[in-house]
Amino acid sequence: MNQLELLWNYQQADMEAERQENTMKRSPARQRLLKYQEYLREQKAASLHLEEEVQAMSDRVDALNDAIMHAEAQLKALHSRFESARPENSKEVQSFIQETQRLLQNINGYEQEVRRIRKDVDGRDSQHRDILQRAAKVRADYDKLKTEYEAEYKENMEKLEKLRNTAAEQGKDIEAAYMDKYKSIKQHIMPPLAQLSGDQCGGCRMSLPSAVLRSVRGGTPVECESCGRLIIK
Ligand SMILES: [Zn+2]
Repeated sequence: MNQLELLWNYQQADMEAERQENTMKRSPARQRLLKYQEYLREQKAASLHLEEEVQAMSDRVDALNDAIMHAEAQLKALHSRFESARPENSKEVQSFIQETQRLLQNINGYEQEVRRIRKDVDGRDSQHRDILQRAAKVRADYDKLKTEYEAEYKENMEKLEKLRNTAAEQGKDIEAAYMDKYKSIKQHIMPPLAQLSGDQCGGCRMSLPSAVLRSVRGGTPVECESCGRLIIK
C-alpha cells in the first residue's frame, strides 16, 4: 500500500472516531447538564448581586441611623439652650421654632427612607430565598443526572479509545509529512481527503482544471482550490 492508500484508510478510522466524539458531545444528558450548569451559574450571579444590593442598603440604613442620632442630639442641645436662656423677642422665638422644625423634618425624612429601604430589603430577601430554593432543586436534578451521565460517559469513552487506537494503528506507517498535511487540512475541513469523482473534487464537487486532473491521476495529490481538501485518485 502506498502512502496515499494508507492515509485514505487512516481517514476512515479517524472519521469513525470523530463521529463517536460528536455523538458524545451531542448526548442529550450532556446537553441537559450544560444547561443546568448555565442556569446554576446565572442563579449564583443573581444571588451575589442581591447580596451586594442588600449590603449597600444596610450600609445606607446605618448612615441614616447615625444622621438621626446626630439630628436628635442637635435638637436636644437646641432645647437645652432654649431652657437655659429664654428668647427675649419674637424673632428669637421664631428662629427657635424654625430650627426645631427643620431638625424634625430631617429626622422624619431619614426615618421614612429607613422604612422604605427596610421594605426593599424584605423584597430582596424573599427574591433571594426563591432563587436559593429553585437553585437547590436544580442542583439536586443536576447531581442525579450527573451520576447517570458518568456511566454513559465511561462507556462512550471506552468506545472512543478503541476507535482512536484503531486509527493510531492504521496511521503508524504513514510518513510524518503526509500525516502533518492531513492534520493541517483537518483543522479547516473534514474529511481532509477527497477522491477524484470523474473530473470533480469528491469533497466539494468543483470541476477541476485539466492540469490538476493530470497530476492527481498521475499519483500526485493536489489540494482542491475550492475546499482545500487533498484530492487523491
Ligand atoms: Zn474540493
